[in-house]
Amino acid sequence: MNLEQLIRPNVRAMKPYASARDEFQGPAAQVMLDANENSLGSAGGQLFNRYPDPLQRAVKAEVARLKGVGPEQIFLGNGSDEAIDLLLRLTCVPGQDSILILPPTYGMYEVAANLNDVAIERVPLTADFQLSDEAIEKVVASSAKLVFICSPNNPTGNLLHAEAVERVLRGFGGLVVVDEAYVDFAAAPSWTTRLGEFENLVVLQTFSKAWGLAGLRLGMAFAAPALIQYLNKIKPPYNVSESTQQHALAGLADTSGFDAMRRELLQQREQLAAALPTLPIVEQVFPSDANFLLARFRPDATAVYEYLLGRGIVVRNRTSQPGCAGCLRLTVGTPAENAQLLAALREYAG
Ligand SMILES: *Cc1c(COP(=O)(O)O)cnc(C)c1O
Repeated sequence: MNLEQLIRPNVRAMKPYASARDEFQGPAAQVMLDANENSLGSAGGQLFNRYPDPLQRAVKAEVARLKGVGPEQIFLGNGSDEAIDLLLRLTCVPGQDSILILPPTYGMYEVAANLNDVAIERVPLTADFQLSDEAIEKVVASSAKLVFICSPNNPTGNLLHAEAVERVLRGFGGLVVVDEAYVDFAAAPSWTTRLGEFENLVVLQTFSKAWGLAGLRLGMAFAAPALIQYLNKIKPPYNVSESTQQHALAGLADTSGFDAMRRELLQQREQLAAALPTLPIVEQVFPSDANFLLARFRPDATAVYEYLLGRGIVVRNRTSQPGCAGCLRLTVGTPAENAQLLAALREYAG
């Protein structure tokens, strides 16, 4: 892969915005009159009067330690959705280039492509939501700039077989973006452990799921340093707020809280996966390496969905997704929430 060839010519040529804080990198300044901030303080009491570190160095140092990668291999964004959008804008010329997706999959790839006037090629997964040999051949033959591989996949919950992903990594001419939003719930190593082998590999992770920090908006992209530099070049200068950076550091320091929640969610997932098939309205529960279960309902999943809504229980109706006819996606909740869900489903089943 030639990275420079994958980058849009206007991005290669442009000069990034140089913020005041980029230019000054010395020891703590005494008098900061460079950025038109309010030196008096902040309305609301808590101090947020200074712009945050544009490169989020403190957070990256902790993420690097935790993940066993170098800080220069990390990009942080306003959710991983920002990384998805930036990767698209980095590589795809609007009205000309395309991305590849593997339905059924996460909806934001398509939204980001549509927003950027980038064409979408679709290569569907098999009935058990894997890549067939034929699909791999199609992906490898495609001239798309990016392929998004979601593993564990949303909305299906399964990991994609590593050998298949590896064949894509070896054969595809563009960037291979492995979206690991749910990796902390999976019984498989992260693709971040293979970054050294594949210069076209980008791994996405997020603080929104296992870390329980969806409200913060903080996502991670891991890739070769040259690619990370390009993402930094085009990102909004202060894309991760000071408040988010501070809270992320607190979260990263609480590995025991993180582990406890993860263990409980995994245990609850197994309980739910065991209980659902005992209901006559549940035809199939797909294996999950995530914090949700995709289940196929009979005879009418949408009727079940609406019944649950009426009981104040919101799940995700995925019946119109390719390969997901009759399927609802159920997030694993607290033990009480899961019990409520099961009770409502039992009642519906009569
Ligand atoms: C939830 C989710 C994300 C997370 O996006 P954020 O913007 O980080 O909240 C990314 N990818 C997939 C597949 C998801 O399900």
